[in-house]
Amino acid sequence: MPTYDVAVLGGGPGGYVAALRAAKRGAKTCCIEAGLVGGVCLNVGCIPTKAMLHASEIFHRFVRAAEYGFAAPKPTVNGPDYMKRVASVTAGLRKGVEGLLKGRKVDLIRGRGRLTARDTLAVETEAGPQAIEAKAIILATGARPAKPPFFPWDSGRVWTTDQATTATALPESIVVVGGGIIGCEFATIYAELGIRTIVVEMLDRLVANIDDDASKAIAKSLEKRGVTVRTGKRLVGMKASASGVAAELEGGETVQASHALVAVGRPPNTENLGLETVGVKLDGKIIKVDDRCRTSVEGIYAIGDVAETRQYAHLASRMGTVAADNATGHPASDPRTVVPVGIYTHPEVATVGESEAEAAKTGKKVRVARFHYQASGMARAYGDTEGQVKLIAGEELGEVLGAVVIGRHATDVIQGIALAMRNELTVEELAATIHPHPTFVEGVMEAAEAWLGFAVHAGG
Ligand SMILES: Cc1cc2nc3c(=O)[nH]c(=O)nc-3n(C[C@H](O)[C@H](O)[C@H](O)COP(=O)(O)OP(=O)(O)OC[C@H]3O[C@@H](n4cnc5c(N)ncnc54)[C@H](O)[C@@H]3O)c2cc1C
Repeated sequence: MPTYDVAVLGGGPGGYVAALRAAKRGAKTCCIEAGLVGGVCLNVGCIPTKAMLHASEIFHRFVRAAEYGFAAPKPTVNGPDYMKRVASVTAGLRKGVEGLLKGRKVDLIRGRGRLTARDTLAVETEAGPQAIEAKAIILATGARPAKPPFFPWDSGRVWTTDQATTATALPESIVVVGGGIIGCEFATIYAELGIRTIVVEMLDRLVANIDDDASKAIAKSLEKRGVTVRTGKRLVGMKASASGVAAELEGGETVQASHALVAVGRPPNTENLGLETVGVKLDGKIIKVDDRCRTSVEGIYAIGDVAETRQYAHLASRMGTVAADNATGHPASDPRTVVPVGIYTHPEVATVGESEAEAAKTGKKVRVARFHYQASGMARAYGDTEGQVKLIAGEELGEVLGAVVIGRHATDVIQGIALAMRNELTVEELAATIHPHPTFVEGVMEAAEAWLGFAVHAGG
């Protein structure tokens, strides 16, 4: 039986990062992957959606050419070519990750694995069953799209994000079921291509768990792009025909489109892993881990979407690093308190730390300051003046507690604030940090100055 120091089950951004790190630490490592290396993120998640989003934005800018002083013919979309480019982006990156694993001498074992003992995995490979022994095992099996049974899945008209990111053509029109982070990103993608898009969300606002300003900005931007947003509406049924789908909403309204995209959650892949066999405990639906990514069984770690309710690739990778260090005898921990979140709509939204409402709930006295993109030279130059940096800090000491950034490059701008929080900096230190000009990140410094009462480019 092949024996390893570290065996990683799953080759997504959690698993492959863990495997590379363990190998770098000198451990004899294998990575077992049942599907495609790179997992959801690289193949059907973060990356293809960003390839789609960026291309859609270019198209949308063409449509708005006159605003920038161009007279351009009306552009048209070639759906198969658009999706072909997306496939080539993911294929290139996948090859890159496979190359990295090979370069670090990580054995890539293609097959589906499960635990049979504390230190043993059984893997179903194409060549037949294979047993693998490892001193440490890292579970990184991720999550999958929820497929509620009442949708007509067999019609080919109803997609999960797996199909939407790998389709060979674009829908003529689409009803997006679920107005969360993923649903709103797809609505932006399709709407900017001029595809008729309807979003149905049963809660009373989009991306319901984020800051109210951000949720409102997302709804406004989708509507500006022609999306029909139906919040507070439960979907009660869906029928498919040869020409498309008819979604029936509570209250009798019917919405028709050529396709439906269902984005209503992602259950973690905890089934058939042999967790019960070896006694790995769950915490609700996910595997229970501590801040070292240790499960309830010594020598077994779990990372990423299978062990976190916050399903983000960067968090999976960070957990991969922590788990690999611990598995190779280099103690590491991360309380996972500073986790930036990106919402890839236009404008983008990014958050980190506590929102104003969360801070208020814990009884903390906080002060909030804003810098509006309207006052940013760079935002004006781009013609992207929608948005703001909202900074939340402790009233007395000025410790940075959180932020919400709405606007172009928000998912990059947030990182300065995450760094400040990770290092327990104050608003004063943020304001005293020289930021390059002109940039969107200047907004962080400006918001910090506003917080201190010394706003330069904002009123008040
Ligand atoms: C449409 C979409 C867009 C997204 N956009 C973003 C984004 O912009 N930013 C962001 O941070 N996150 C984004 N996410 C979430 C992100 O993709 C996930 O959080 C991330 O992929 C989780 O990584 P992971 O390694 O835990 O699991 P996964 O990426 O799910 O990888 C798990 C891997 O394990 C394999 N596997 C499962 N079971 C077994 C088994 N028994 N044996 C062997 N292999 C197995 C699977 O085949 C899979 O390859 C997005 C998700 C979706 C669906």
